Amino acid sequence: MPLTNIRPTAELQALDAAHHMHPFTTNASLAAKGARIITRGEGVWLTDSEGARILDGMSGLWCVNIGYGRERLAEVAARQMRELPFYNTFFQTSHVPAIELAAKLAEITPGDLNHVFFAGSGSEANDTNLRMVRHYWSLQGKPEKTIVISRKNAYHGSTMGGASLGGMVPMHEQGSLPIPDIHHINQPYWWGEGGDLDAETFGVERALELENAILEHGADRVAAFIAEPIQGAGGVIIPPDSYWPEIQRICDTHDILLIADEVICGFGRTGNWFGHQTVGCKPDIITIAKGLSSGYQPIGGSVVSDRIARVIDADEFNHGYTYSGHPVAAAVALENLRIIEEEKLVEKVRDETGPYFQKKWKSLEDHPLVADARMVGLMGSLALTPDKGARAAFASEPGTVGFICRENCFANGLIMRHVNDRMIVAPPLVISKDEVDTLVERAWKVFDLTLARLKDEGLMKAA
Ligand SMILES: *Cc1c(COP(=O)(O)O)cnc(C)c1O
Repeated sequence: MPLTNIRPTAELQALDAAHHMHPFTTNASLAAKGARIITRGEGVWLTDSEGARILDGMSGLWCVNIGYGRERLAEVAARQMRELPFYNTFFQTSHVPAIELAAKLAEITPGDLNHVFFAGSGSEANDTNLRMVRHYWSLQGKPEKTIVISRKNAYHGSTMGGASLGGMVPMHEQGSLPIPDIHHINQPYWWGEGGDLDAETFGVERALELENAILEHGADRVAAFIAEPIQGAGGVIIPPDSYWPEIQRICDTHDILLIADEVICGFGRTGNWFGHQTVGCKPDIITIAKGLSSGYQPIGGSVVSDRIARVIDADEFNHGYTYSGHPVAAAVALENLRIIEEEKLVEKVRDETGPYFQKKWKSLEDHPLVADARMVGLMGSLALTPDKGARAAFASEPGTVGFICRENCFANGLIMRHVNDRMIVAPPLVISKDEVDTLVERAWKVFDLTLARLKDEGLMKAA
C-alpha cells in the first residue's frame, strides 16, 4: 500500500496549506494554487499524486546522485535501526557506522583531508567550519584572525552562520545578517558581469578581489576564504579557468585557510569525486552533505586536513550536534558511497554521460531564447535572454522570465530550477543517454512555450 497518497490530492493540498510552512516559499501564494504532491521516485523519475511522471533534472535538491528507489539503502537503514538506531559520539564513545564512514571519507578525499567532523546538514557543517577556523587560529596564538571572506551570491546554508557566509542579499535582509566578521567579494560570473573583459582576464580580476580584501583588513585579521568550486544555488556559475589558480596562490601567499564547500560539487557531480579536483585547488577543509547520502538520510560534515586536525584535536572543541555521525545516516551514506564506487558513477559522469549531456545542452543555444549553455560534469545552466548578442538581461524584474519557464517545465513533465533568469540542471548521476535526450527535447519545447508567452505579454525586452 502506498504510504503517502491515501487522501485525495485536493485534501492533501488543503492540509498542506493549513499547516505546513514551506522553505523559500511565499506560502500564501502557494496555498492559493496548491502544492504539487510528489509520491514516488524511481531512477530519475518522480510520480505525483495525480499519477503524472516527471523527469527530475535537479536530483531533488542536488542530492539524489544515485537516483531514487534504491532497495539497498532501505535495507541498510532498516538493519541499522534494528541493531543500534542511535548513540552519540560525545561521551568518549563511538560506533561502527561513524567509524567506517569517516575512514571511507578519508580514503576518497585527496591529500591529507583525513579527519571528519559530522553534522546533520550542509548548513550545520558550515557553522562548524566557521567556529573551527576561528578556534584554530586562536589556538595558534592569533585570536584576532576571525574574518572569513566569502562571495556575493554564494550559498552556504540557512543557519545564522551558513546564511551569513552565503552571499544572498534576500537572506541577509531577514534576521540581521551577516553576523560580524564576514565579508563578501564579487563572484566570477563572466556572462552576467564581465562587461567588455575577456573571460580569463575577468577571472583573474575577480580573484584579485580576494587579495585586495585581505590587504584591506590585514592578513593577521583574516582566517579563511570559503567558496563553492562551482556555485550551485547561485545559478551554476562556472568560473573562468584563470580564477581558481589565482585564488589558490592568494590563499597560500597570505596564509589564509581555504574552505571548499563541496555540498553540491562533491560525490561525482563534476566528473571527479570532488569539485575542487575539477577546478584544481587544495582546500584545508571541505564541506560535505547532499550527495554524501544521495539524500536518503540527512547527514553532512567537514573533512579537515592533518594540519588543522592536529591543532584542533589538542584541545576540547566545545561544539557538536546530537546527530553528529548518526548511525543510521552514516550507514546509509557508506552504502551510497559503495554504490557510487561499484557502478563507477564518477567515471561514468566524467567519460560518458557528462560529455554527452554537455554536447546536447550546448545545442540548446540554437534556441532564440537561450545563451551561455554550459555544463561541468552533470551540473549545468543557461541564460534566458532577449538578446544573446548583447548578453542582455530582461527589462522585467529578474526572475520573472525564469519563473514562467520553470512553471512551463513543471507542466511538461520536467523539473529544472530557475535562479533569476538562468535555468539550471543537475540530474541524478545515473541518468541514461536516452533520458538525457528526453530531458533536452522537453527543455526545447518548454523554451518554445516560454518564448511564445513572453511575446504575448510583451516581455521580450532587454533591460
Ligand atoms: C545546500 C547547500 C548547503 C546547505 O546544506 P543544507 O543540507 O541544506 O543545510 C551548503 N552549501 C552548499 C553549496 C549547498 O548547496
